Amino acid sequence: MTDAPAPDPNDVAPAVAELETIVSLSKRRGFVFPSSEIYGGINAVWDYGPLGVELKNNVKRAWWRAMVQERDDIVGLDAGILMHPQVWRTSGHVAEFSDPMVECETDHKRFRVDELPGAEDLGPAELLDPGIVARLGLRCPVDGGPLSAPRQFNLMLKTYLGPVEEEAAIVYLRPETAQGIYVNFKNVLATSRKKLPFGIAQIGKAFRNEISPGNFVFRMREFEQMEMQYFVRPEAASAIFEEWLPRRRAWYERYGVTPSRLRFREHRPDELAHYAKKAIDVEYRFPFGWKELEGIHNRGDFDLGNHARASGENLQYFDPATEEHFIPWIVETSAGGDRAPFTFLIDAYREEEVRGEKRVSLALHPDLAPYKVAVLPLLKKRPEIVDLCHKIKADLQRHTMAVYDDTAAIGKLYRRQDEIGTPWCVTVDVDSLEDGAVTVRDRDSMAQERIPLEGVTRLILDRLDAARAEAG
Ligand code: ATP
Repeated sequence: MTDAPAPDPNDVAPAVAELETIVSLSKRRGFVFPSSEIYGGINAVWDYGPLGVELKNNVKRAWWRAMVQERDDIVGLDAGILMHPQVWRTSGHVAEFSDPMVECETDHKRFRVDELPGAEDLGPAELLDPGIVARLGLRCPVDGGPLSAPRQFNLMLKTYLGPVEEEAAIVYLRPETAQGIYVNFKNVLATSRKKLPFGIAQIGKAFRNEISPGNFVFRMREFEQMEMQYFVRPEAASAIFEEWLPRRRAWYERYGVTPSRLRFREHRPDELAHYAKKAIDVEYRFPFGWKELEGIHNRGDFDLGNHARASGENLQYFDPATEEHFIPWIVETSAGGDRAPFTFLIDAYREEEVRGEKRVSLALHPDLAPYKVAVLPLLKKRPEIVDLCHKIKADLQRHTMAVYDDTAAIGKLYRRQDEIGTPWCVTVDVDSLEDGAVTVRDRDSMAQERIPLEGVTRLILDRLDAARAEAG
């Protein structure tokens, strides 16, 4: 008797088969719009609509709560997007932050070599090998035309600071938020009086002139990062790096991502970025394959060491217990402020048949849902019902995101709220005017319960608290 082969953990179906399902829901319901659409759009920039901005802010708040608010060892920062240009020379970005690129000789489109079919697994040296195009028979994926030899393409966007557009005035739009943390290490250490190990967290915009952007908000040229740099004693770095792996994975799971659609992938030695001693990506099974959601890196003393040498500042830490002076090592968790909401959105998508009709719902964690509660009238022609709805909604609004909607019949109103992930609906009907009770409907189970009017706000807030405690 032979044992059945063990199931392949990488063989996991995505939550939605087609990315288009999420793109069209996002457009239709106001989560994400193409930037500058009335002028034909601008490639790789997307705008968050009324629901998208709520979802994104909720994700950023959840990250901040887990990484700053609930920890005594991590403090926050909000550094400028523009920085002294020397920062990017010292960090290695001017010399190293580039991707090997080829250009099609007929349609002049440019591609990242490692994204061409057949070149995905090449190491960095092969990606820049002048003979690689001929050897692998690589052709333009759009029109099949011949491709140039690879060359390095720097991903940093530049602009000019001040009134004169000259070389000396060039500054870069930061390609990562991390550098703002390193250059403030001394300031934060002196003012927060933290002892190692401690971290600095930051959420903010970053810009990369990506050669092959795409897959909706997955790879953009303007995006957000949620980064945390944890400063540690050198000998503690390896163990602390390992501690952050399950912690960061658990954060996605707590907020609803299906565990089997998450995995870790360690970078091969030839793949490691110039600053990294070890790097492990948290990957998610997107509809277009397993892709990076977050990077966790052991950066050694690369950053503070180089900034200390280039600036002449003393960036050492003094340990009063051992009386040693040394440059701390850094363990970094670098998550995407767009990839994370995108992942929660994809993983929450549900389609089912209810009474012969397709029901689409977003089973978003209540803490992440754009609206927590919708207050709906059963009969919008009865002013007393509408008035009561507005009173209930106004009371809820003092505490949380609540909306009123009367633009359709109740069945349709429920479906609309399901499709945008609103966890609860409160319905006021004719009986409510007599018995002072309303119906509370649950998004996921569709169960309805009748509760006294005065208890509505308390009930919703208790449920939100309970959901948050589960995620805590
Ligand atoms: P990739 O391999 O996908 O290009 P990366 O390894 O360059 O990503 P990092 O430099 O580690 O990414 O950036 C940390 C995080 O920032 C990523 O895990 C991702 O969530 C986010 N991120 C990076 N580049 C982009 C982008 N172009 N658009 C959206 N998010 C991005």
